[in-house]
Amino acid sequence: MKRIVFYSLFAHGHTNPTLPVVSELVKRGYEVIYYSTEEFKEKIEGTGAIFRDYNIPHYDISHVPPNSLELLELLLRLTSSLLPTLVREVKEISPTCIIHDSLSLWGWIIGKNMGIPSIDSITTFALNRKILKKIANRMIIQKVFTRPLLLIRLLRLKKALEKRYKVRFGFSNIVLNPEKLNIVYTSRKFQPLADEFDDTYSFVGPSIIPYGEIGKFPIEKLKDREVIYISLGTVRNRRPDFYKNCIEAFRESPYLIIMSIGNRIDIKELGKIPHNFLIYPHVPQIEILKRASLFITHGGMNSIHEALYFGVPLLVFPQTSEQRLVGYRVEKTGAGEVIDEREITPDILRMYVEKLLSEPSYRKNAEKIGTSFKEAGGYKRAADRIDNFCKEEARASITRPYMS
Ligand code: UDP
Repeated sequence: MKRIVFYSLFAHGHTNPTLPVVSELVKRGYEVIYYSTEEFKEKIEGTGAIFRDYNIPHYDISHVPPNSLELLELLLRLTSSLLPTLVREVKEISPTCIIHDSLSLWGWIIGKNMGIPSIDSITTFALNRKILKKIANRMIIQKVFTRPLLLIRLLRLKKALEKRYKVRFGFSNIVLNPEKLNIVYTSRKFQPLADEFDDTYSFVGPSIIPYGEIGKFPIEKLKDREVIYISLGTVRNRRPDFYKNCIEAFRESPYLIIMSIGNRIDIKELGKIPHNFLIYPHVPQIEILKRASLFITHGGMNSIHEALYFGVPLLVFPQTSEQRLVGYRVEKTGAGEVIDEREITPDILRMYVEKLLSEPSYRKNAEKIGTSFKEAGGYKRAADRIDNFCKEEARASITRPYMS
């Protein structure tokens, strides 16, 4: 039996891009045992994979600031508490291969400790030490030395793991765990400093299903209108101040503005809604993007991929450092602009929107990246690479027993 254990990270952004790949692997005869949390059970089972619960108290990791020391500590603590059970279970499962999220340190350790061939699943941009230094030089790994007590705690946790599981790793390994095969769900064209990554990195692009549930959303109202879509995603979206600025900026405009504000905010907080605005807690984003001229977004990787897939120019208003990095990449590729927190006034918002709508280069560049996504191969190419890797490793493993 071809069997894969998938150690996911229990956040939507880290789970969604992997599901079409898992579904394809199941179709190709793999038994996939997918570890996550209860919240994702239905989605995971929908792919045909076997769901296993990490059995940790409900913890929404997406609220921990990315690139923070708190994230490092959390991941080390999680790794220590998860590993005893996971190691016991993986011995029973006896998989051909492991796939682990790039933040699931426990998966990387199991692979190393037990000599199980492993694949890294990277749902953001691929990172290496050089990029970490270059693009995130205020990054955790340096900040750690300014907080001695925390540094001692982190060192203790790290040393205990190294001793117990006979592995050695640096702090940077907590957030990047390269393997012999690394699946990245973006294209080489969109990846920053793509030349840094050799063929062990497979840039398969996002696997976007180009149609979505419309539900009760009045999609017919978009017909023959110039549509601007605004959303800060599903996590850090409680920004009434920002939405009010958007209302102020575009209340007299000829555009139809669709605003998804999430469910942490009451629409009444936004005051009187102008007639050219449609505001909802959640909207069918894919269907709207197909018809939109511009997307004002927080820069979540899914939103950015979805917009570029349909060639929609972007105004990125990042809420985290990871989203800032994505925003800079959008700017660099000429597919949009980044707007800074301090620039959020109705006048400046209007200025950016006019610029993005009047210069055709933004749409052209967005379309070029969209094409690179469609050509990257998606979930089928990911499954090809994983399948080949597992087969080659299975042949090699006849002479390579588990180490512990
Ligand atoms: N989304 C949606 N409708 C909405 C808002 C968001 O369908 O009204 C979807 C969107 O298509 C994307 C995901 O939610 O797939 C948001 O993911 P992203 O990585 O962009 O941001 P996050 O919510 O994780 O910050």
